[in-house]
Amino acid sequence: MKLYSINTGHFKLDGGAMFGVVPKSIWQKTNPADENNMCSWALRCLLIESGKRLILIDTGMGNKQSETFFGYYYLHGNDSLDGSLKKYGFHRDDVTDVLLTHLHFDHCGGSIIYNTDRTQLQPAFKNAQYWCHPQHWNWAINPNPREKASFLKENILPIQESGQLNWLNDTTSIIPELKTIVVNGHTESMVLPLIQYQHHQILYLADLIPSVGHLPIPYVMGYDVRPLETLNEKTNLLNQALAENWLLFFEHDPSVELISLKLTERGARANEYLTIHQLNS
Ligand SMILES: [Zn+2]
Repeated sequence: MKLYSINTGHFKLDGGAMFGVVPKSIWQKTNPADENNMCSWALRCLLIESGKRLILIDTGMGNKQSETFFGYYYLHGNDSLDGSLKKYGFHRDDVTDVLLTHLHFDHCGGSIIYNTDRTQLQPAFKNAQYWCHPQHWNWAINPNPREKASFLKENILPIQESGQLNWLNDTTSIIPELKTIVVNGHTESMVLPLIQYQHHQILYLADLIPSVGHLPIPYVMGYDVRPLETLNEKTNLLNQALAENWLLFFEHDPSVELISLKLTERGARANEYLTIHQLNS
């Protein structure tokens, strides 16, 4: 089995929205904002190669939306899904499984593309089974007004119409080395992959802890639908991660991919800054 970090680009989100109740005077030290108060974030996916399976966790935001849409989110940088796959000798048609942590556009937008004459939406991974939590799926296709702008029909419905959708819950095992933890603070039933790799356990954090700057327990995104639940989930998972020496993989940190943890008097903080590539070599 081998892991690869797949950066699909960077985008921008309002720094205040990303840090909830934390004042800018504090968060700007770790995440400097531009003149519009926007901070840059990665769209970092993880690829698992295991025997004949090639499993992609999340797909970035894709590129099918309008210029107006991208005007709000400033997709930028040199990385792309295809470019990052190619770097490791893969093509999107090689992907056998796509695990979607949740259906916010910056996690699943790359799952669906237009056909060549832009008349039809189709799966971006034509040979893949897509995996999503059924309770999250139902939540996303009947969105509440608060999350409605994040659940875009064009990213979601074509997955089901393609016949490639499968249900994933905390007992589903795509491969034995991949377990899943379901959390409910950020959105209903978000799935966090926990991967056994070499002698490590690696937790893919999705939007539970989007960046290193969000490690302190009260640093919760303004987007979360149940922030107090996020506090509990962060507390429990960080305690478990410390006790069992898990590594943490960040989907959105602009530069940090992977860390080990240490316990300080202020709680769990980054110990070593690592990369997946380092583990491989
Ligand atoms: Zn999200």
